[in-house]
Parts: sequence; C-alpha cells; structure tokens
Amino acid sequence: MARKVPLLKPAHVKARLKFANDHLDDLEESWEKVMWSDETKIELFGHNSTKCVWRKKNDEYHPKNTIPTVKHGGDSIMLWGCFSAHGTGRLHCIKERMTGAMYCEILGKYLLPSVRALKMGRGWVFQHDNDPKHTARITKEWLCKKHIKVLVWPSQSPDLNPIENLWRELKLHVSQRQPRNLTDLGKICVEEWAKIPPAVCANLLACWGLTSHLCAAVRLNWRSPKMARPSSNLTKFRKEFKKAKHIAIITGAGVSAESGVPTFRGQGGYWRKWQAQDLATPEAFSRDPSLVWEFYHYRREVMRSKMPNPAHLAIAECESRLSQQGRSVVIITQNIDELHHRAGSKHVYEIHGSLFKTRCMSCGEVKANHKSPICPALEGKGEPDPNAKDARIPVEDLPRCEKRGCNGLLRPHVVWFGETLDSDILTAVEKELEKCDLCLVVGTSSIVYPAAMFAPQVAGRGVPVAEFNMECTPATKRFKYHFEGPCGTTLPPALERHESEAI
Ligand SMILES: [Zn+2]
Repeated sequence: MARKVPLLKPAHVKARLKFANDHLDDLEESWEKVMWSDETKIELFGHNSTKCVWRKKNDEYHPKNTIPTVKHGGDSIMLWGCFSAHGTGRLHCIKERMTGAMYCEILGKYLLPSVRALKMGRGWVFQHDNDPKHTARITKEWLCKKHIKVLVWPSQSPDLNPIENLWRELKLHVSQRQPRNLTDLGKICVEEWAKIPPAVCANLLACWGLTSHLCAAVRLNWRSPKMARPSSNLTKFRKEFKKAKHIAIITGAGVSAESGVPTFRGQGGYWRKWQAQDLATPEAFSRDPSLVWEFYHYRREVMRSKMPNPAHLAIAECESRLSQQGRSVVIITQNIDELHHRAGSKHVYEIHGSLFKTRCMSCGEVKANHKSPICPALEGKGEPDPNAKDARIPVEDLPRCEKRGCNGLLRPHVVWFGETLDSDILTAVEKELEKCDLCLVVGTSSIVYPAAMFAPQVAGRGVPVAEFNMECTPATKRFKYHFEGPCGTTLPPALERHESEAI
C-alpha cells in the first residue's frame, strides 16, 4: 500500500520543476548522494491514554507541545534515523542522554551499515544538523577519520531537513499501533521505520529536492567533493577588492539577525503558536488571510524599532564611494526588511520581495506601502504572545487595492514557501553575476540557499567569492575567502576605503 507523505500540490511541483529545469541541471544525482539523518523525541503517555505528542527536540515547552497530561505522564525515547533516496536506513532508540562519543558510536553502528545496505556507493554525502553533539570535536574527528563528507548545514538556515516529513510519517503509524510501554514503543518505531517504502523516500526527495535552495546546496557539495580551507587573510582579500570593478554582495538572514530582526524560524522562533513556514504560505493566506495579515502587520511594526547595523552601513557606504570611481556594487538579498535601503543602498535586488510592498490578488499591482498601521482594522493587532486572540478581521476590512474600481484583497509582496522566485528578478540578478569580478556572501553561507543558487556560477568563472558569516564551516576550494564572526564586525574593515582609492 502506498503511503502518503505531505508533499507539494501538483501545480507547485510543476512550477518547481519548470524552475528547476530552467535554472539548475543534474539535480537528481546530487540529492541521491545524500544520506539524511536526525534525532527526534517520541513520547509515551500513561498506560490508559495512547495519545502522543510529537515534537522537535528543544520544543518541549512550546504551547503547541504541551497538553495538561504531559506534566505528569510520559516517558520518552530519542530516535536516531537516517534515509536516502534509496530508502530508510537503520533506526536506533537512544535510551540515555547522548554524548558526542555515543553519537560516534551510533554513526559507526547504524549509519555506515545503512550506507552499505542502501548501496550509496562512492561519493555519498552525510547530512546532519548543527546539534552540539554533531559538531563536537570528537564527532568531527571521527567523521574525518572515516573520510565521510558532510553536507554543510549552517544553523541560520531554514529548516530544510526532509527527514522531518518521514518523522511525521513514522509517528503517525506508530501512534496507530498504540504502544503500551517504552520497550514496545521502541520496537514499533523500528518496525514502522523499516516499513516505509523506498518509493516514499524517493518521492519525498524528488519534490523536496526540487526546491531551489536544497538543490543548490546539495549540488554544490556534490560537485566539489574536495574540501579545502578558504583563506581568512584580509590583506589578500583587500588586494582583490581594490581591483574589483563590479562587486556583487549576496546577503542572508544573518545580516538582519544582527539588527535584531526576528525570523520566526528555528528554535524559539515563534509568533503565537506558529513559525514562518506555517503562515508564510499561499495556503495559509487563503485559509485565514486575517491571521496572515496580523503576522505581517506585526513584522512591519517591529521594523520601526530596528536599525541598519554596521554591515548594512558598510555595504551602503562602499556602494556610494565606488560609484564615484566608476565601479559598481550590487546587493542581492533574501531579506525582506528593507534595511539595505534604509542604510542608503540603491542597487538592491530583493529576491524574496519586501514587507513594505503589497500585491493585489485581483489586478496584480505591486505597490510600496509603508503605512502604519497598514489598515485601520489591524491597528493594535498582531500581538505575538502565544495566548493572544486571533483578531478575525473580516476580509473586507483587510488591506485592499486602491486602484480605481479594483478593491481587490492585498497580500504581502513576499515570496512564500511553495512559491517560486520572480523570473524577471532572477534574470536581472544573473546578468549582474555574469558581470561581477568579486562576490561577497554575507550573513549566510555560499553553500546554502539563496547564495548557493548564485555563488557556484560565479566561482565557476574563477571569480573570487568571500564569505562573511558566523559559521565555522569548511567551504569548498572554489570559495576563496571566509571571514568568521558577526558581519557587523568583519565586513566594515573589508569594505573600507583602500589606500589606492583616489576618492
Ligand atoms: Zn487591484
């Protein structure tokens, strides 16, 4: 019997397929080379109640995961599992508190046999997140000793791990079997995990892999198996900087984070009971436009107290200075907060749109909108507290199109999960990248989306790429520089006036 996993709707898949075909080649073999892994906690409640709550590690105090019975009931077990496009690997129940040493033991006992059983072949890549046990020295040394290539997985990146879908699938099937005790629970987990058909894994990755960010991240690693440490020599970087005529700067969430802009993603990133991926979707908007507008209204209002940080300012100052010398700086950002504009940057591509633009659902008009509140009905709404009541604003009182005779419902002009990027913007960005002779990746990694969509093509032309971020990750050889630390600290000295500049 075929099982269903939450996948994209056919229309989305089609759109993504087209996007992927247009922009990214040889995807399939790349994601097929990845062994995905993760841990998850599974709880067992009192013997009479078979109700289970499934949650991600570290989320236990979130209201979503607490029901009155949780306080007294329930033991739990941790599971470690892995899977690839060829099927599920071995599942292991972790009974004690896990340490780095235990993690290595698990990898030896369960990961490596799974790799062999699933016939991953040479050149496979291991994926795990940045849990401290995963990044512990002992683990790193173990992986290195075993010559295991690791897919770099920066902590600031969106929650991309497709294994989450399999955890949901597993938990559903396990709960149907009503485990009575922990031993039972562990046994059933292992059985149900093994029963997940390989086709489900392959399908999951086929759809998941077509999301641009993931493909790009995987593709890069796949093509560049040889890892080497990039240079962090600022003097050397400055020599390249002074020669550069066209500088492309790709910025990610880390730049906004340094201004205190919340992302509503990852650990602790909630607005009421939700994270961005729950509300930033076309489905959520059509289901409850009032709720989604409250969320965006809150995000717009929050920006009133946030300021551009030294990284934004250094970029803007550099653009303005270089433009007087006939040199150019272009900013390609995934951030929707307009802080680059507020810092004074002129040449900005917002590939995810902006919090301060609206799009009419009827006539399609895109318009800048900095009103506060955006409409009277939203005044004082959008409280992020988990106990706040939804405003349930009638749809006619939500922001509406002001074009004569239209009055259509407005939506935030941002790219939501499940949506593709604007092709005109992508074309323009690609032109800029073809022209650039130096590329900076700031507040994100060049091997995760969105930079991964762009940086490889730049590096492929032999153009130096420099990363400025918090992640201590070995970049591939093709990326020349890496400056670790807050970009508000590392970027200003890198972009300041060079002595060779006349102005
Ligand atoms: Zn309209």
